[in-house]
Amino acid sequence: MDDIADRTAEALIDERLDRLVAEHDPHGDRHEFMGAQYDLGLAWVWFPEGYGGLGLPPYLQHRIDERLDAITEHRPRFFDVLGHGMGAPVLLAHGTDEQKRRFLRPMFTGEEVWCQLFSEPGAGSDLAGLATRAVRDGDEWIVNGQKVWTTVAHIATWGMLVARTDPDQPKHKGLTYFLIDMRAPGVEIRPLRQITGEAEFNEVYMTDARIPDANRIGDLGDGWRIAMTTLMNERVAIGGNVAERGEGSIADLVDVWRNHPDPRLADDVMRLWVAAETARLTNLRAEHNRRAGTPGPEGSTGKLVYAELNKKIYELALDLMGPDATLYDTYEFIQPRPGEAVSTDIRRRFLRVRANSIEGGTSEIMRNIIGERVLGLPGEPRVDKDLPWKDTRRG
Ligand SMILES: Cc1cc2nc3c(=O)[nH]c(=O)nc-3n(C[C@H](O)[C@H](O)[C@H](O)COP(=O)(O)OP(=O)(O)OC[C@H]3O[C@@H](n4cnc5c(N)ncnc54)[C@H](O)[C@@H]3O)c2cc1C
Repeated sequence: MDDIADRTAEALIDERLDRLVAEHDPHGDRHEFMGAQYDLGLAWVWFPEGYGGLGLPPYLQHRIDERLDAITEHRPRFFDVLGHGMGAPVLLAHGTDEQKRRFLRPMFTGEEVWCQLFSEPGAGSDLAGLATRAVRDGDEWIVNGQKVWTTVAHIATWGMLVARTDPDQPKHKGLTYFLIDMRAPGVEIRPLRQITGEAEFNEVYMTDARIPDANRIGDLGDGWRIAMTTLMNERVAIGGNVAERGEGSIADLVDVWRNHPDPRLADDVMRLWVAAETARLTNLRAEHNRRAGTPGPEGSTGKLVYAELNKKIYELALDLMGPDATLYDTYEFIQPRPGEAVSTDIRRRFLRVRANSIEGGTSEIMRNIIGERVLGLPGEPRVDKDLPWKDTRRG
């Protein structure tokens, strides 16, 4: 955008923000306030008008977020990440108009939480090998299978489900993408406890669970392409955050340093601060170039850098804390729910960030993607790529 277009867009955003705040109480009902935000096109500013946006470049969302962060507690929460970061771009790219009208608004307001039913006990990195089956029965699909590591399934209304609809096709081709009602008969959710003591994620068993064909996203057999839209957006949602300078996880390290300064580790703190700032500036540049739609494979770079950096940051924080670092005081079994505060204890964060290099695709898989699809290096051997899925060897 040129300067004049930029200024016009900023003026439009400011005018809408003024209206939002004048006509809706920022401390009143959460769903009412966020619904009004959506209706004014201030939910995702790069989405089309009528679907929570104004058709403007994504980087202008900062202007909205900064102002709303300062005046209201009605902001997206941890639970909304899967819907906002992945479900919304998937619907935008592949949903019908009816699906967009039905699902986007309650997802934005948090009235309906979304989860992601991709990973299975035998299919994580090799997602295309998944075994959950969906068989057509008139206007419905009958689903049988098991998913695992399903974040926030215990409070979700909708699950983004990839299931195998044609086992005779090669593994990437026989998949279809659905939205499953997480409270439907035949859907059973069991908590899985993490290293932090909490159960953010779950196992999900589907036994003859039914999905109306109206909740199929995209065409039959197009599940892999839509799963890729989901994963590319997931990687940007995890690794593409642009915090203010010095904020985010590096702020935790600086805080710990203030309370436990150790001159022997000063250089290490500085090195990580510079790495965090470099990652932030790279993300800022990527955000300016980003357009609505499916992000490219370069989104994997941010995810990889963020995951590895976070682990180093909290490892150093614990080194600075010395013996205090071992005093993790509770392994209470908690299933996070809306309205409950998540602990900000550095020791908990140290444990939680171990997952950063696994969730959304492992760091090894990010390196494979960057090697093959960004740098153009030779691909891994994939011997089962053209075989019918039913004839492949599976874990
Ligand atoms: C906190 C958290 C939340 C999650 N939330 C969700 C969720 O909501 N929904 C969901 O569907 N999934 C979720 N996951 C699952 C996550 O996507 C998978 O754990 C991840 O993709 C890895 O799959 P896997 O665990 O089966 O490991 P595997 O694929 O079995 O990998 C095991 C090891 O082998 C390595 N490896 C595998 N293949 C290759 C290869 N080709 N080259 C080099 N190394 C390789 C991996 O890097 C890893 O170190 C979550 C995971 C975590 C930790």
